Amino acid sequence: MGRVNLISGNDPRLFTYGLYRDLLRTLEERGYRFALFSEDLTDPRRVYLRHDLDLDVDKAVVMADIEAEKSVRATYFVMFDNAFYNVGSSRVQRQLRTILDGGHDIGVHVVHDPTFTVSDMIRRCAAQARALGELLDHDVSCFSFHRPARELLDTEFSVPGLANAYGKPFFAADRYVSDSNHDWRCGDPGVFLREFDGEVLQILTHPFWWTEEPTPPIEKFSALLEKSAARAHGYLVDNVKLAHKLLSSA
Ligand SMILES: [Zn+2]
Repeated sequence: MGRVNLISGNDPRLFTYGLYRDLLRTLEERGYRFALFSEDLTDPRRVYLRHDLDLDVDKAVVMADIEAEKSVRATYFVMFDNAFYNVGSSRVQRQLRTILDGGHDIGVHVVHDPTFTVSDMIRRCAAQARALGELLDHDVSCFSFHRPARELLDTEFSVPGLANAYGKPFFAADRYVSDSNHDWRCGDPGVFLREFDGEVLQILTHPFWWTEEPTPPIEKFSALLEKSAARAHGYLVDNVKLAHKLLSSA
């Protein structure tokens, strides 16, 4: 019997940078090697740190710094279909290059279009990886799905030349934990990692949820919406003369 998990998986204390540092330390102490999806690692005991950037690249940069301080490598999956950031923008490209400079890898986080066939999805994954690779001048060789449909998880979905984060070598339901929807379904991930007895593990986190101090998720959403509105405002003022006149004087 494992220890009783006293804290529920959605507790904001489970999403602080302090806790994240503790998780990395536990993995190191337990002898896990930090592996990338894009490499062929034979170390039996390895962990894939995966970050899906569903909402916020700024937060990803913070997390990448925390990892780089400890010489920990992770993979950041970036979206094209996204309402909050644009991989074509210079700002985001600079941020992604900073992440790469920290020793991390970058892949594409692909949105499943329900009107697409499996071969359409294969083409979409390949096209997005190629486009991101061109933009970053980096060999993008892995992808993860955003909220994948069951058929994409069940079939051995594969794209030539790209590693699928949900593919067999990296993923199995009993050796995978995630903070999806601000909820660790495993309970306290610190307890889980201390007790996990498998050899290969994948940990998915979304940097958006993580903060210095424990913070209720509603405040995280509010901060994101405010930041996005401020950026849209700045764009209008900087790029449309009339907006500059009407909005800056307000
Ligand atoms: Zn996602």
